[in-house]
Amino acid sequence: MNKSKIVTNCIKKVIGEETKEIHIHEPSFSDSNALEYIEDCIKTGWVSSAGEWVSRFENLISEYTGAKYAVAVNNGTSALRLALFIVGVRNKDEVIIPPLSFVATANAISHLGASPHFVDIEDSSLGICPSALEKRLDYIAIRKGDNVYNKFTGNKISAVVPVHVFGLPAKILEIRKICLKWNLPLVEDAAEALGSSISMSENKKRHCGCFGDMGIISFNGNKIITTGGGGALLTDCSEKAKLAKHLSTTAKLDHPWEFFHDQIAWNDRLPNINAALGVSQMEKLKIKLRSKRILHEKYKKIFDDIADIEVIEENTKSESNYWLSTIRILGKEPQKLRDEIISFAHSSKIFVRPSWTLINKLPMYEKSQFGDLTESYNQSKRLINLPSSPQLIKNT
Ligand SMILES: *Cc1c(COP(=O)(O)O)cnc(C)c1O
Repeated sequence: MNKSKIVTNCIKKVIGEETKEIHIHEPSFSDSNALEYIEDCIKTGWVSSAGEWVSRFENLISEYTGAKYAVAVNNGTSALRLALFIVGVRNKDEVIIPPLSFVATANAISHLGASPHFVDIEDSSLGICPSALEKRLDYIAIRKGDNVYNKFTGNKISAVVPVHVFGLPAKILEIRKICLKWNLPLVEDAAEALGSSISMSENKKRHCGCFGDMGIISFNGNKIITTGGGGALLTDCSEKAKLAKHLSTTAKLDHPWEFFHDQIAWNDRLPNINAALGVSQMEKLKIKLRSKRILHEKYKKIFDDIADIEVIEENTKSESNYWLSTIRILGKEPQKLRDEIISFAHSSKIFVRPSWTLINKLPMYEKSQFGDLTESYNQSKRLINLPSSPQLIKNT
């Protein structure tokens, strides 16, 4: 049997012989209080962003992640753009990101008039490689007062944005050390990583998104929990949290009747109706996480016997939410085999997919600055995301 058929068979053995289309990640609202909570918004008339469900949702997120403050907004991209603005990213700046991410990581930077500067990844977490980051900064960066500049372009380097890809925690402790050394703000794109953490000592773990100045999560329809569309900023800093709320609500000063705004800001707050859905989803998070881990372990077991294919695992001392279970094709010339595997799976209505086109290869980012991206190119040819919806595990 050829490899592509073998892979599809392995997936079918794990998820069962489904007759319907199987997508990478689908939302689920079964056995939840979704309808009841949304009905409350409609009955009371509180559907927009002022409303009690928003703060309820924010409290649940801050409680769960351990971040002192969580500020809910209308999507993950807005959350990232706000976080970057708050840590000081402005027009013409450069922000360091990995090329292997969803395009939103770069778009949020561009929305502020800044540009992404790409640094390579490493193969175990698929996140920014700490030593590549260190090398790149040693080569391009120069300190002037409190700021860091790219000595070749003259632009300010104003933040580093590691991404926890597919929910796998990046090597954030090492990355943070480098940011501290250079006095560079650290904003974690934890859009995919609700439920992922790093163990800090025997019985203490810290949630992804809580290591730097700010972190962000997405609640888009394909993420581990969804609010339809939505996102949140995480921070331990009360000033930053306050500013996030202020800037996401048109910078209006609190007053019983005056409409006074003290700066140009955005309208980014999460509507109450979406927050109500979010609360019902947070109530199911633990179950979803458990199912995803079981699903991952089933994939791991079945692909263990298949030569030249491995299931990507969390690093020791870290815990992935396994948002997307992912296989890596080993050996030479993986791209042809990858495409054959994907194509065959699609013919069986199993819509697996490759990792995103590297962001630096997209037309609008081709002219961005970048370091050596060898590992990003290497890995991006080898990865296939498997069907990962928690509801693929029955009765959990
Ligand atoms: C989903 C995602 C975002 C953006 O979130 P939206 O809610 O879709 O705007 C940003 N970064 C990464 C890595 C993502 O996966």
